[in-house]
Amino acid sequence: MPNLKPAANPAASRIPVAEFTPEMKETHTILIPMMLPIHFELIEKVLQNEGYKTELLRTEGSRIAEEGLKSVHNDTCYPALLVIGQMMDALHSGRYDPHKIAFLITQTGGGCRASNYIYLLRKALVKSGYGYIPVVGINLSALRGGTGFRVTVPMLYDIAHCVVAGDMLMCLHNQCLPYELRQGDTQRVTDKWIGEMKKVLDGKHYQCAGKLKALYPAIVRDYGMIKRSKEKKIRVGIVGEIYVKYSPLGNNNLEKFLISEGAEPVVPGLMAFLLYCVYNGIEDQQLYGGSVKNSLGSEILYRYLVGKQKQVIRAIQKEGSFAAPSPFSETLKLADGYISRGVKMGEGWLLTAEMVELIHEGVENIVCTQPFGCLPNHIVGKGMIRAIKEKNPDANIVAVDYDPGASEVNQQNRIKLMLDTAAAKMRG
Ligand code: SF4
Repeated sequence: MPNLKPAANPAASRIPVAEFTPEMKETHTILIPMMLPIHFELIEKVLQNEGYKTELLRTEGSRIAEEGLKSVHNDTCYPALLVIGQMMDALHSGRYDPHKIAFLITQTGGGCRASNYIYLLRKALVKSGYGYIPVVGINLSALRGGTGFRVTVPMLYDIAHCVVAGDMLMCLHNQCLPYELRQGDTQRVTDKWIGEMKKVLDGKHYQCAGKLKALYPAIVRDYGMIKRSKEKKIRVGIVGEIYVKYSPLGNNNLEKFLISEGAEPVVPGLMAFLLYCVYNGIEDQQLYGGSVKNSLGSEILYRYLVGKQKQVIRAIQKEGSFAAPSPFSETLKLADGYISRGVKMGEGWLLTAEMVELIHEGVENIVCTQPFGCLPNHIVGKGMIRAIKEKNPDANIVAVDYDPGASEVNQQNRIKLMLDTAAAKMRG
């Protein structure tokens, strides 16, 4: 039985914390809720290389939200409700021995409720009699988890490269899947390169960056060989709160739906969000003063990651048949004139900048995904649509709400209406 001790956060001090001890590395499987299918497979490999037993939770269906509603207060934001619901569903599925599992939760460490998911989950576990199950967190601003789970610098290094490489695969995958002439070709290429990347991750830390980069030209070539139709499809950008933007569970398989409607989904990469978090450290120092040392650390990390993102962009541009993502150094300038870079709750200014970026890239049709209970992203997402349309009259943006009571049919009808407008414009 693990040690139970009070939580470090005074606000959650009454919730006992079950620690993930070093022995549990041998005995416990860490269950991870899925967000981004390609990226998370790579990140899972990094954890496995460190000796952790892991499993990605890929469950779906309305029962997940129902479990969430039973476990947390019903005004909790929708991503927390789903993530916690997915974990509780796994627990109640009978597939796992509750004494042999732990949960992993990723946190942005930002100022909104994202930083409290871990306490909500612990509270839900205690309430259901599973307070002994350890919960470990990967948090961008503070690393915690217990004596047996340590997020080390080499791990973060590999994870950052998984994000860059995952963005590349996602970008190329989305540009091939809607056009493939033989069903399954795109997924086959994606699976092949996930496998190759995992082999690279098996090597020594600090070697993976160079080895992954060496794969890039062959990856782009391989996607370029997929036989695709030349049909002109409506390109639709997907932006919004990070979980509902990326997670098929969170957005009711939005990408799949768009493809079934004859459109091409364009999804900005996860590295932009990581860079946004790092960049905020630099911006804070400029706006409010504070530790120059921390700001310098953010600056060095920022430059390093921007360099890695540019390697992917250059590889895609060199091949010539795919649209490459914009470098983050350009993305951040696009917020100017719309919103201050001091706005950094939730996805903050990045969400506005991503909408403007898509429009500048010719992707004028956008779905802005908005989870229930997410005030920050309603402000920087839905709240900015009017300002964006005033400067970009051709923008065709629809804000779609995701919550446990929302009807999927209503969501799809709103998106279909946006697609109708886009199709009419395409026909001229
Ligand atoms: S960004 Fe929105 S959905 Fe995410 S934790 Fe904050 S309030 Fe909740």
